[in-house]
Amino acid sequence: MNKYRRYQEEVLACSQKLSANGYFGPASGTGGNVSVLVEGEETIAITPSGIVYSQLTPEDICVVRFDGSMVAGEHSPSIETRMHLAVYRNRPDVNAVIHTHQPYASVFALINRPIPALFDEVVLKIGPVVEVIPYAISGSSELEENVASRLENRCNCYIIQNHGAIALGTSLEAAFNHAALLEKVAQAYYRALATGQEITTLPDPAIYIMTEIMKSEQQKEIERKEGRQ
Ligand SMILES: [Zn+2]
Repeated sequence: MNKYRRYQEEVLACSQKLSANGYFGPASGTGGNVSVLVEGEETIAITPSGIVYSQLTPEDICVVRFDGSMVAGEHSPSIETRMHLAVYRNRPDVNAVIHTHQPYASVFALINRPIPALFDEVVLKIGPVVEVIPYAISGSSELEENVASRLENRCNCYIIQNHGAIALGTSLEAAFNHAALLEKVAQAYYRALATGQEITTLPDPAIYIMTEIMKSEQQKEIERKEGRQ
């Protein structure tokens, strides 16, 4: 069996779960893409461009090197492959990237407003803020640069202005859970804003402690990967 098969199956299963749950826009939508890093290689498995997720098989998932060359798959890789690669190049803690068009996070993509620290579990898993990455055309090198320029805060979710969101994680399961947490906090924040009342955020000392916990988890993953090299 091809050594990338496990990664192709993981990417397919995650994509279909995201699509069925409305994360790619309308029900069973295709507005998004998913990738996972191949352990020990500068290679990712990533969804192909323009194929309905319910019709994909594991062989349809593309395997692409960091230099853009194809290792496996018969279709063109996602138009957003450069954006995914920008994340892997800049964030050694990240092993999986999910790009979605999920509904409530998309509200903040339109009003161009970051989501502050509102709930403990969100800060622990996603970080102290969900920043908005400035708009650029899908698949452009400008979007790749805009994404790369915001990754230094080590957060696990970002909103892309007038577009959607990205969720990162040490595994596809973690990235999926981060996308789900983002949708939860975006929905609650949207509804809270709609009341017109003052919104309270978490106190700074709590944000600091929980952000440090999140970063130490990322550091553990970086050291695990360095240890196996
Ligand atoms: Zn998109």
